[in-house]
Amino acid sequence: MLGLVWDGLELAPQEAIELRTPVGDDVVVEVDVAGLCHSDLKPIDGDIPQELPVILGHEAVGRVVARGPSATIPLGQRVVMTVLRPCGQCADCLAGRRIRCRATATPPASPFSRDGRSIAQFVRLGAFARRTLVSESQVIPVGDDLSDEIMAMISCATVTAFGAVEERARVEAGESVMITGAGGIGLNAIIAARAAGARRVAVFDINPRKEDIARRCGATDFVLSSDRPISDVALELEPDGFDAVLECVGMPALLEQAVRSLAWGGRVVIVGLPPHGAVLPLEIRSLFNDRSILGCRMGSVDPWTMIPRLVERCTAGELDLGPLVSKTVIPSEIQELVAELRSGSLERGFIDFRQES
Ligand SMILES: [Zn+2]
Ligand SMILES: [Zn+2]
Repeated sequence: MLGLVWDGLELAPQEAIELRTPVGDDVVVEVDVAGLCHSDLKPIDGDIPQELPVILGHEAVGRVVARGPSATIPLGQRVVMTVLRPCGQCADCLAGRRIRCRATATPPASPFSRDGRSIAQFVRLGAFARRTLVSESQVIPVGDDLSDEIMAMISCATVTAFGAVEERARVEAGESVMITGAGGIGLNAIIAARAAGARRVAVFDINPRKEDIARRCGATDFVLSSDRPISDVALELEPDGFDAVLECVGMPALLEQAVRSLAWGGRVVIVGLPPHGAVLPLEIRSLFNDRSILGCRMGSVDPWTMIPRLVERCTAGELDLGPLVSKTVIPSEIQELVAELRSGSLERGFIDFRQES
């Protein structure tokens, strides 16, 4: 079968990739559409350690086409997948906090190989392939109402952004929200903040092309970042400071300025992944007056409950994620899609794997 393989030099489609036979609670998912996310570029850029070669991709929708003897999900069921692989037995799992299960940290052996050589599976998913094999605990059944693109995006960028806004920042109606970085998560966070009733959503980005889409998602202000510290601009907009800041870039300097931009009682949520070893120079007194800095792992929410809820809200017309879907390509066009994502000319790009099966 076909998969998109990053071998350390290029990201390109390869044929004749084999998937091992499902055993135990394995589930084989035939991927229809997968989204391209900035996290997929991290192994390419060397930002995170990754065994090579690897099949990238981690937000996808498809159907169950095979399963191991102890898996019970029906064949043909439409599903999205999650990188989380909870054990179901530890204290966190039993308390309903599957997002904190440590078992997720131990990757299983990759199911992919080619000519007898193993190909790694990115974050236990490897969704840039016509078929992938995951644990039954990683699949979330979904209905047929929403498009493949929106479903794929909900499974990662949307659930992360909504979790960060609703569960971590706990944005309330009438509050002011600042978002740094208008990428896939930042744009979803704008929609989430408006849905929570934020009166002001100010978005900061270095790319002027992002203004239009940011405003279409509901941003009230768009600030083109310059050499000026963003906290100076923020405090001009909101002299008392912002109630919540979502730092979606993962830059230590921005995080420090985000803290300076806070109102009393304000919360900064770290959504963007900073580089390994990055430290934060911070005047501790700036956290007085009940300000806080919050880490956030994938939205800090349980995707098995949050994803179906988001789907319902989209189906009911409460949320419109349509503006974020910019383009769908066939697997051989992956390099163009990556280039467009890097240049910022693309919001969310998708790969349709049905076209080359
Ligand atoms: Zn993602
Ligand atoms: Zn567990």
